[in-house]
Amino acid sequence: MSFEPEFDGRIKASGGDWAIGVIGSRLLMDQVDQALLFRCADLYDLVFQLPVEQLYLGRWQGTPCFAFIYSADLELPADVPLAAAGLRSRLGLVDDELFHLAGRAQQLAHWCEFHRCCGRCGGPTELQLHERVLACSRCGALYYPRVAPCVIGIVVRDRTCLLAHNVNFKDGLYSVIAGFIEPGETAEQALIREIREETGLEVDQLEYICSQPWPFPSQLMLGFVARYKAGEICVDDVEITDAQWFAPDALPAIPPPHTISGKLIDIFLQRASLQG
Ligand SMILES: [Zn+2]
Repeated sequence: MSFEPEFDGRIKASGGDWAIGVIGSRLLMDQVDQALLFRCADLYDLVFQLPVEQLYLGRWQGTPCFAFIYSADLELPADVPLAAAGLRSRLGLVDDELFHLAGRAQQLAHWCEFHRCCGRCGGPTELQLHERVLACSRCGALYYPRVAPCVIGIVVRDRTCLLAHNVNFKDGLYSVIAGFIEPGETAEQALIREIREETGLEVDQLEYICSQPWPFPSQLMLGFVARYKAGEICVDDVEITDAQWFAPDALPAIPPPHTISGKLIDIFLQRASLQG
């Protein structure tokens, strides 16, 4: 492990520490080597502006690492080798652990940006030193970083799997079914409901596989394999415009292997090959 998460609100960055620069929903990237992680001193030199907030994240290879949150309308100096890039564009191009670290920085920046004022009384909030929380300076309400739990699942029927085309996907791309967990639901109930709503199918024998933080802006995806139980495909035509059963040797375009959807599809392929 290169990254060890840690919280200590009192630690401030010094020049030799690491930082990930966040500008709104984008991250600072080195135009030469496309790196997302900078020495703090280099960011001070290149950006010409101090971050609005600096959040200590933990240690990267033993050295303190921070999220430097800049004003969302920051304009980068024209003559420096820096660009601002969406994290999604780096998926699969940077090391997994670094991707998750950058995602952590971006999620925390999003949390700070969206909780500058208290939702209860409108007062200003302040970062606390003893734990990672924003507290209202007027009424004391606490705002912890938010993570929205989502379910994602691949439905298996004999030697085929269910993949669907979402209206927001590129043409021809198919993936597994996903959706947010509603208040009061278990993850299993949420997945059964999502599959029913989006494809008209009933499933059972849900098997939890793994999870993945998905920082767009702050989901945690819980991945399952489910068994087809009953029903005929009937898509909702709102979110999903097409869904089909696909055999392992006739898959359409699918998400990359670094995504949890890609991992679930890979598990289906591995199991199908074991069955011969
Ligand atoms: Zn308040």
